[in-house]
Amino acid sequence: MKLCMIGTGYVGLVSGTCFADIGNQVYCVDKNIDKINKLNSGISPIYEPGLNELIHKNFKAKRLFFTNDLKKAITMSDIIFICVGTPTKKSSLKVDLSFVYKCAKEVFLLTKKKKIIVTKSTVPVGTGDEIDKIFKKRKKLFSVISNPEFLREGDAIRDFRYPDRIIIGSDNKNDFKIMEKLYAPLINKGAKFFTTSRKSAELIKYASNAFLATKITFINELANLSEKLGINVEDVSLGIGSDSRIGGRFLRAGPAYGGSCFPKDTKGLVSTGDKYKINLSIVKSVIKSNQERVGLLTKRVYKILGNNLKGKRISLLGVTFKPNTDDMRDSTSLKMIPFFCKQGAIVSYYDPSGEKKEFQHLKNCQFKNNVKDNCLNADLVILLTEWDEFKLIDFKRIVKKKVFKVYDLRNLYKASEMKRNKIKYYSIGRPEIK
Ligand code: NAD
Repeated sequence: MKLCMIGTGYVGLVSGTCFADIGNQVYCVDKNIDKINKLNSGISPIYEPGLNELIHKNFKAKRLFFTNDLKKAITMSDIIFICVGTPTKKSSLKVDLSFVYKCAKEVFLLTKKKKIIVTKSTVPVGTGDEIDKIFKKRKKLFSVISNPEFLREGDAIRDFRYPDRIIIGSDNKNDFKIMEKLYAPLINKGAKFFTTSRKSAELIKYASNAFLATKITFINELANLSEKLGINVEDVSLGIGSDSRIGGRFLRAGPAYGGSCFPKDTKGLVSTGDKYKINLSIVKSVIKSNQERVGLLTKRVYKILGNNLKGKRISLLGVTFKPNTDDMRDSTSLKMIPFFCKQGAIVSYYDPSGEKKEFQHLKNCQFKNNVKDNCLNADLVILLTEWDEFKLIDFKRIVKKKVFKVYDLRNLYKASEMKRNKIKYYSIGRPEIK
């Protein structure tokens, strides 16, 4: 099939490349010329394991194209995927749909031929109806389908190839057949193909993310309680997660949830509730609790360093919101690092995905090229993101200070081992070993 992905970001680039890899001809379009130039010269603008190789393979096979020319891409394609961002509006919890509507308007103006429009961007219930209105003058030529995306950064290619489910929302049976044909290679390998109304598909995406955010927040709050009670929250997770009705995933206590989806989608769901005068009080509490979490962790850092950060050397390991991605959106580090700097700490960080522009303006903050240089003079090492290369660090060997501390926000290390090495160690929801 011939496809056009409008928006070549995490979703558009990964799914476009994977669609090409299962035999489709795919045109990836972006308004960002830099991004397209990079891709055309063989450089992926994002870090995602395995993506570079897959781009090269399909680019070489002439199944994958990158362009700024939307008209050409639309003309060449039968199915047009909208994969642009849907951020939270600055002044409210509402979703900014301007990028989505702009795409739909452009498509309407640029073609007079029959096209299928598929929304992959996460959009509130009723957005498909609004897009329909944009096409109403030539209604018979366009179908508007919802096909929310569930890939996780860091595991995106695997998630595309082996999705838990493929959700297609439409009020037209013929659309289901076309989408079933497109996804046939994945369905044949066992992916669940689930058809529903367009509005249900739109809500399923928000409900999934809000539920996962709730699970994380729930276990984070239990970690706070466990710390007070001298209980190990990991035992609690295991105990409750072994109940098949609950399930063990997303029950690992840690920092606040972040990334490009959970924070904005929980807010988006609440604002849909508000629009229809339905109080989604659980999701509201989750948002509040998550926002408070960064403050709580920062306070603990304060305490660990004797209630004064002035002149203290804090080294962060990992600053992205999760490992195996370069995505910084809503990462805990965005709040922590500027706060530490403001309090007079001398901050350094290392992240395998490289230096971050978000911290370049901070006077007291330096990027280091590797774990060793980063931790060398630390008073406190904070493990924020559990990249694989942080799993086996021999702190005793690399930190030159006689007395230093480690605050592990992902419970990556064993408290007993830290004690054996005489390192003062703090973690999340686990009893301190004195
Ligand atoms: P992104 O910011 O990485 O990419 C969006 C791209 O769209 C950008 O490159 C931007 O330049 C481009 N763009 C915007 N307007 C355009 C236009 N008119 N024409 C051409 N290009 C345009 O965003 P993302 O992370 O890929 O997310 C896209 C959507 O998918 C969002 O709604 C998000 O919630 C959803 N989603 C994201 C993920 C994820 O893990 N990132 C997972 C599932 C769903």
